[in-house]
Amino acid sequence: MTVPLAPGATVGIVGGGQLGRMLAMAAARLGYSTVVLEPRADCPAAQVANRQLVAAYDDSEGLAELARLSDVVTYEFENVPVVAAIRLADEVPVLPPPKALEVSQDRLAEKRFLNGIGIATAGFRAVESDLDLAAALSDFGGNGVLKTCRMGYDGKGQRVFRDFDGEVDGPFAAMGGVPLILESFVAFEREISIIAARTANGAMSSYDPAQNVHRNGILHSSTVPARIETATAEAARAAAFAILDALDYVGVIGVEFFALPGGALLVNEIAPRVHNSGHWTEAACAVSQFEQHIRAVVGLPLGSAGRHSDCVMENLIGDEVERAPLLLAEPELVLHLYGKAEARPGRKMGHFTRIRPIGS
Ligand code: AMP
Repeated sequence: MTVPLAPGATVGIVGGGQLGRMLAMAAARLGYSTVVLEPRADCPAAQVANRQLVAAYDDSEGLAELARLSDVVTYEFENVPVVAAIRLADEVPVLPPPKALEVSQDRLAEKRFLNGIGIATAGFRAVESDLDLAAALSDFGGNGVLKTCRMGYDGKGQRVFRDFDGEVDGPFAAMGGVPLILESFVAFEREISIIAARTANGAMSSYDPAQNVHRNGILHSSTVPARIETATAEAARAAAFAILDALDYVGVIGVEFFALPGGALLVNEIAPRVHNSGHWTEAACAVSQFEQHIRAVVGLPLGSAGRHSDCVMENLIGDEVERAPLLLAEPELVLHLYGKAEARPGRKMGHFTRIRPIGS
């Protein structure tokens, strides 16, 4: 058995956005202190953490200080530089393990890893020139989604091709001349995701899958229960557990799937962290994904991932945050704002979850 960190121990968090904020709040509830490494001062996480180190994610002094102050270090986004995570891991446990970052930072590495453990994804081709793209598009009948291998999120760095049979001249340079991946276009019936957790002892647990709707590449809503068969939910859980075991993972992971007509699943991507499509767990479960993650990384047993309510979570993007006062008038609604001063277009400012009795 792992010995859990005692209350009063410090959890280091790399990244200071809303996910770090909600992790820090969950850590505080369990009696832990938090220190956040984030280059932007007064970031959402620092507003609720015990301390912030204002430094770049790869700043060696900042990382050394984070290691010195922390009993365990975790992260709230998958683009933490792998070398920084590995350097930190020499000094202090880093959980989830840096291998999870390596796999999830590169869409090609991610798909190869998934296929390697028997998990289906969209078809894909590596694209390093317009010539590669032309060949890949012809393999996929002129349909596909072209994505940057690295640093893409919320649909950024993507281009969709439908029934394309023109000349391929320019997309490679237009996407920045960086390594790309063409994915076959998936005619999915719905998008679902599952939030799962694993402890250092190998205990695993997962929440019910959520059904997700994206707008402009950004998550708009997550509905639980998802409209899927029990067998599909079981398949999602089995895939998540296989991924967790293969990575010897500790913490919470988010796995996004395309559900095809008939119920078969393809994994779209994995996020080695708490996930936007799991925010509903703070309103509809006794133990949220944030607490579950903290429990796993400090060595506590996992809590129940059971659900006491059905629910719909919606993001508040940009000036949608102005709806907050009206939303608060609804009694069965849980609101969460992230403390961001400026409501720029496309910026996640908060979310809310409407709960209702199961099956109602
Ligand atoms: P991603 O950044 O990979 O999560 O993509 C953002 C959104 O674009 C997904 O949630 C889907 O709605 C859509 N999308 C991404 N990849 C594909 C694909 N290969 N086929 C169809 N739609 C896709």
